[in-house]
Amino acid sequence: AAARAENRWHGSGTTSDGHRVKLLANVGSPAEAGAALDAGAEGSGLFRTEFCFLDATSEPTEARQREAYAAVLRPFAGKPVVVRTLDAGADKPLPFLDVDAEPNPALGVRGLRVAFDRPDLLDRQLAAIVAAAEDTGAEVSVMAPMVATPDEAAWFAERARAAGAARVGVMVETPAAALCAGEILSEVDFASIGTNDLAQYTCAADRMIGALAALNDPWQPALLRLIAMLGEASGAQDKPVGVCGEAASDPLLAGVLAGLGVSSLSMTAAALPSVGTSLAEHPLKTWRRAAEEAASAPDADQARLRARAILEDAE
Ligand code: PEP
Ligand code: MG
Repeated sequence: AAARAENRWHGSGTTSDGHRVKLLANVGSPAEAGAALDAGAEGSGLFRTEFCFLDATSEPTEARQREAYAAVLRPFAGKPVVVRTLDAGADKPLPFLDVDAEPNPALGVRGLRVAFDRPDLLDRQLAAIVAAAEDTGAEVSVMAPMVATPDEAAWFAERARAAGAARVGVMVETPAAALCAGEILSEVDFASIGTNDLAQYTCAADRMIGALAALNDPWQPALLRLIAMLGEASGAQDKPVGVCGEAASDPLLAGVLAGLGVSSLSMTAAALPSVGTSLAEHPLKTWRRAAEEAASAPDADQARLRARAILEDAE
C-alpha cells in the first residue's frame, strides 16, 4: 500500500472529483519544516512554537523568538504556515512559565489562558511572529490554542490584528468552542480543530493515560458530530476550518473529515502520501455519505466499519 501511495500521490489534496483539501504538515523545528516540504506538504497547518523553547529557563527575548520562528518559516517562503502561539501547560510544561501546581492540569491555566494574566507575553510573541513572517516571506497566519468562548476568540483576534497579523484563527479543542462554532468563527478568519484535545475533553478522558485510549479514539461518533457542527459553520460563513490533530493522519478518517466539511488537513509529514492517495480514491459525495454513516454510528468501531462499508460499496 505504501508503494501504491507513493505512485499515486502528486503532492496536492483532491478527492477523485477534484474537490480540493489542502494537505499540510505539523512542524516544530527547522528539520521538520524541511521534512514537511520533502514529503510534499503544501504548507504547515500547525507550527507548535512551544517546541522552540522547551529548555528555556527564562522568556526568550523578542529578537531571539524572531530568529527561532524565522528558522522554521524560511523553507516555507510563499507557502501558508499557521503559527500557533505558546501552548504551555498540562502535557507541555515550559520551565519559564511557572504556572502554579494544579490538581487537574489539563483543565487548568494552559494554552491561551496563560496569556490572560500576562498579555505582554503574548504581545511580544505576536510581534516576533509578524517580524519573522516579514523576514521570510512565508504566508503566516496566527492562531491561539485552548479557546473556550467567543469572547476569548475576540480577545485574541484583537491583539493579533493590532500586532499586524494578516490572518487570525483559533484552535477548536474544547467542546464549548465546537458548540459555539458560529459565534467563534464570526470573530476570526479561520479555525483549526485540535482533535487530540477535543477528543480528550469530549469524552473526559486524559490523553496521556493509555488505559483510556479507546475513549480518545478519533472515530468516536461524539467527536465526529462536533466536527460536523464546525463543518456546517464553515460552509455558512465561508471561512476555512481545518484539522491539525492526529485524526488527520488516518487515511480513511481524513476523507471522512473532508466529508464533514473540513477544508485542510495538517499531519505528521510521513502520513501525507497515504492520506493524499486515500482522499483521491473517492468523490466528495461518497466521503460525505461515509461521514454521515460514521457520525451516526453508536461507537467508534462501528463508525470505522460503516464508513469502510460505504466506500467498498461505492467501488
Ligand atoms: C490537538 O490538540 O489536537 C493539537 C493539534 O494540539 P497539541 O497536540 O499540540 O495539543
Ligand atoms: Mg492541543
